Amino acid sequence: MSKIRVLPEFLANKIAAGEVVERPASVVKELLENSIDAGARSIEVEAVAGGKRMIRIEDDGEGMSSDDALLAFERHATSKLQRSDDLMEIATLGFRGEALPSIASVSRLVLETRSESGETGSCVEIAGGRMQSVKEIARSRGTTVTVRDLFFNIPARKKFLKSESTELGHIVNCITQYALAHPESRFLLRSAGSELFHFQPVTSAAQRVFQVMGGELANQLIEVQSQVPVFYQEEAENDQFRQYREEIRVSGFVSKPEVHKLNRNSLFFFVNRRMVRDKILLHALNEAYRNILPAGIFPVAILFLEMPFREVDVNVHPSKVEVRFRHQSLVHDLLRDTVRKSLMQARPQASFPAAHRLSSEMEADSPFDAPAVEDLPLEATTQSTPSVGGAPPAFGLAPLSPTPSSARLPFGSASDAVDSLQVDGPGTKPKQPLHQDLAIHREPAPAGSSVDERALQSLSAEQRSAMEVVPLGQIDNSFIVAADRGALLLIDQHVAHERILFEKVLKQRETGGVQSQRLLLPILIELTPRQQVILENIMPELESCGFEAEPFGRKTIAVKAAPADLSTADVQRLLPELLEGLDKETQALNLGRLREKIAASIACHAAIKVNTPLDQAKMRWLIDALYKTQYPMSCPHGRPIVLRYERHDILKAFKRI
Ligand code: ADP
Ligand code: MG
Repeated sequence: MSKIRVLPEFLANKIAAGEVVERPASVVKELLENSIDAGARSIEVEAVAGGKRMIRIEDDGEGMSSDDALLAFERHATSKLQRSDDLMEIATLGFRGEALPSIASVSRLVLETRSESGETGSCVEIAGGRMQSVKEIARSRGTTVTVRDLFFNIPARKKFLKSESTELGHIVNCITQYALAHPESRFLLRSAGSELFHFQPVTSAAQRVFQVMGGELANQLIEVQSQVPVFYQEEAENDQFRQYREEIRVSGFVSKPEVHKLNRNSLFFFVNRRMVRDKILLHALNEAYRNILPAGIFPVAILFLEMPFREVDVNVHPSKVEVRFRHQSLVHDLLRDTVRKSLMQARPQASFPAAHRLSSEMEADSPFDAPAVEDLPLEATTQSTPSVGGAPPAFGLAPLSPTPSSARLPFGSASDAVDSLQVDGPGTKPKQPLHQDLAIHREPAPAGSSVDERALQSLSAEQRSAMEVVPLGQIDNSFIVAADRGALLLIDQHVAHERILFEKVLKQRETGGVQSQRLLLPILIELTPRQQVILENIMPELESCGFEAEPFGRKTIAVKAAPADLSTADVQRLLPELLEGLDKETQALNLGRLREKIAASIACHAAIKVNTPLDQAKMRWLIDALYKTQYPMSCPHGRPIVLRYERHDILKAFKRI
């Protein structure tokens, strides 16, 4: 007798549920995906006890006929895949036909639905995978799914659910993610009798980001957008091939370098409007912020990738959050270069309270991304919107404001806030840039300004903005106080010079060699055996950067030449420090990274120190050179270089407005 048996369907469903249904939020995710796939424009979610007692999702999508309403609970029953070829080009969020039977096998589920053509609606009731009743009902087009008592028949799973507020937090995150990807639809979440959020339909991603995150954080974002072509060949008649072209596009928002997050919870990547977690995309974003953000610090990013469906395989993960790209490096480089370019172009300067904001945010970074959420305290879920001027809204909590988003943003009426973010159509710029510090250049020069208008006209944008900066003096011989037309500026002289030298060394390294100086007397440096090994490995690169050294006895090296900007004392400190730093590196460095490390190290040691008096000419030179760099906003280690105190804030502080 055979020992192998085919599992009964209810058992197979329960096993599948183990993969698909982890917690209330995973139920919400699957049902939301179904609603979106059904073309819904309005989706209302209600959760009781963090979704543990009840989850209800109501949509205005295409609905189901009475036959389909029953078929939907068969395992592997789906309307979304017709041919096996379709699996290569999945255009819908769902495709496996597993979600409904899986959820129904571990809860008490009621499905109510009616399609456009159906004369009546249907109501199907299932508990623990067993059909309870099928009825005709009257209802409007669309579908309502109610899931009660999740895991009532699997106590072991039920025990692992977290507190109500944690589970609710996951639900909030989940819906918010879909809301970001579908600005054209309405999303509402109700819990314990109150609306947690209500996002009205809007016409652009920018507006939805504004609704979800609140104005304060939205103002810290820079818009990004670009695309690359991909070419395909298709067999045509007479064995000929026809070439055609499609595009991979990236768009969305990334934060200015002054926004510092301690974890990845504020990073959102969408591929064809599906939220994904992906190492390639994460790596590309990190690369874009390299030498702009400190190591271990993350930005906020909401990035949408759009590509032909065949470019991405979504059938690699049970809950479809991981994907595989057909052209991995193309996607990686597109994302990295797009973000990097936007940061370079926007040149956002940190505003004055940035330092204070940074420290307060360090303590109160909010959980957002579902997998990372730990017990979200209940107070946090009902916290009010942080006031303007205080800490920026914790990203994940903004939608939980007791002030309904709809009240904050009267849609349909011409709210200023919304107008300023209005995007006219895909690809067009907002009427007013998200980064408003660029706007000040358009204001007329105040009387008594020392800027010569005509001279300014003939200069490049960078030169012009440098010219507008008038150095006034130093604080503590360390920070340059300056003014431009719209703001008071504080410039950290050391990190400013560091940025200038960093880019100079990298540029010289690229175009030949770094300017070197032969030392009158060789500098002797003692090294540990490990440091000697590391030194040997990086010697060719050090030589290209202007160093020359050779062994001098067993434990010592003699440095005979060094980059021109360094003093003897600098060299003496730099090399051991660099070697020690490299020793601590956990990952193997590629050449580009090593080059940057060496450049940063040279820059750091050669740069003007704090406590150095600077005369007018030196300050002028420093500012001009800084503004000519590619990225004058933060030093190679990610610290801000310039802080701005905007005219508007000055007026406010003096109580003039
Ligand atoms: P999948 O989404 O992978 O197809 P599901 O088990 O989630 O599998 O759903 C099964 C089928 O039920 C879907 O293919 C769809 O035809 C139908 N369906 C589910 N939810 C809805 C809904 N909200 N509106 C319309 N049809 C739905
Ligand atoms: Mg589905």
